[in-house]
Amino acid sequence: MMGDRDFRNIIKNAIGSIGKELEIEIDSKNIQTIHLNEVVQCLRRSYYDRIEPKEIERSGFNDLLSGLLRKLQYGSESKEFAIDDIKLKGQVDMMIDDSILLFRSALDELENPQASDVLYLNACMWIYDKDDGIIIYITGDKKETTFSLTRNKKMFEEVIRRVRVLNDLLKEQKTPILEPSTECSNCQYYERCFTKRRNAKQVTLAEMLGMSKKD
Ligand code: SF4
Repeated sequence: MMGDRDFRNIIKNAIGSIGKELEIEIDSKNIQTIHLNEVVQCLRRSYYDRIEPKEIERSGFNDLLSGLLRKLQYGSESKEFAIDDIKLKGQVDMMIDDSILLFRSALDELENPQASDVLYLNACMWIYDKDDGIIIYITGDKKETTFSLTRNKKMFEEVIRRVRVLNDLLKEQKTPILEPSTECSNCQYYERCFTKRRNAKQVTLAEMLGMSKKD
């Protein structure tokens, strides 16, 4: 008989494999193409994803919604926006009557949309040259919360600034600074950012004071 633990593991593995299939493909070597999802999340996380990646643990099928819609091409082809010699690449979940739609999972009904989703939607409106966009949050028990947005130039300029910063840091192989936020609590790099290395070299007080053992 299948044990409870095995069953949970099978589901976890299935979610992990489907999630991998649905991930936006990023060529980590091509730093002249920056993906929109890389700059609306923590830049340090995006940097690690390219330089020294660690697999993310997905919590449930609900998390796969947006990727599934993109893969089924309800929206449109991904589109690029030129920023000097850098290309910013974005893709919407769905496009209906000239309006851009994003679908996101949520634990509860939200009072306000997530900042990263607002940045993503606003940037898509500039990349696809559309004036209206909607974010739809769906909870596990199928409750929906909808937010509509009109495009904002200042907000897009902030995204462009972050594209340039990430491109520069990748070029210089410099790790971006910490961007502490609620994102950290389910980030796969939490330990790298917030816990000390266990294998750090042990330094004695005598060594720190520049004294040899026989002193
Ligand atoms: S733990 Fe926080 S600061 Fe560190 S990479 Fe993840 S999101 Fe960024």
